[in-house]
Amino acid sequence: MASVVRLYVEHPLGAGQTVPLERAQAHYLFNVMRLGEGAELRLFNGRDGEWAARVTGAAKRGGTLQCTGQTAQQRDPPDLWLLFAPIKKARTDFIVEKAAELGAARILPVQTDHTNAERLRRDRLQAHAMEAAEQCGGTFVPEVADLAPLSQILRGWPEGRRLLVCDEARAGEGERLDAFLGRRAVEAPGPWAVLVGPEGGFSEAERARLAGLPFAVTVSLGPRILRADTAAVAALTLWQIALGDWR
Ligand code: SAH
Repeated sequence: MASVVRLYVEHPLGAGQTVPLERAQAHYLFNVMRLGEGAELRLFNGRDGEWAARVTGAAKRGGTLQCTGQTAQQRDPPDLWLLFAPIKKARTDFIVEKAAELGAARILPVQTDHTNAERLRRDRLQAHAMEAAEQCGGTFVPEVADLAPLSQILRGWPEGRRLLVCDEARAGEGERLDAFLGRRAVEAPGPWAVLVGPEGGFSEAERARLAGLPFAVTVSLGPRILRADTAAVAALTLWQIALGDWR
């Protein structure tokens, strides 16, 4: 049996609530997924948990749904940000999708000294995060921020948030992320962030800058040099195991 369709909407959700559909949503539900009037689906909006809903109106360019009952409470991920340097399109898409699945609360593309991407389609990446949430059963969609220079983000760094810098120069020799986090597993969870560099790695100037930041710690992800997308998945996984919601 096909699994029930899950749809992210911006509209408030609640008992008996009517939800109007935008054109693209109507196309997806009625043409792609072939739902008709009376069909059941699940909705979430990132705030009100998950709701069962029924199709009450289906047209070419729109339609309406009605919420019937709540099926899950809202569940937000732990306060973990992923900072990553955008790489080739498909790999960047992969990083955003995996970060949403693995439970990052916010995704921040950063421009580093060796980043090639100058522009980034934020809306496209946000749609990837939304689709990942739809398919993984989540009720939360991480915000994808606009591309910003790493130096700018570090200048405005929020107080109390700690930053794990994954540095390929530490491969095989520096303190490993899992060992570092293991020593902190007893701490109360707080705001954290993970930084992964681009294919070209970090510049020496960036290393020096990061090493001098009181909120940052530089760690290794094992003996091999990983591609940036692999590094992002590995780092988020290790953090979720040690301090996050896999505990
Ligand atoms: N071109 C670089 C590799 C960059 S790998 C070189 O050849 O040295 C891309 C990013 O993945 C790095 O900037 C780092 O953030 C992360 N990364 C890859 N392997 C890692 C490792 N073993 N330890 C820590 N970080 C790693």
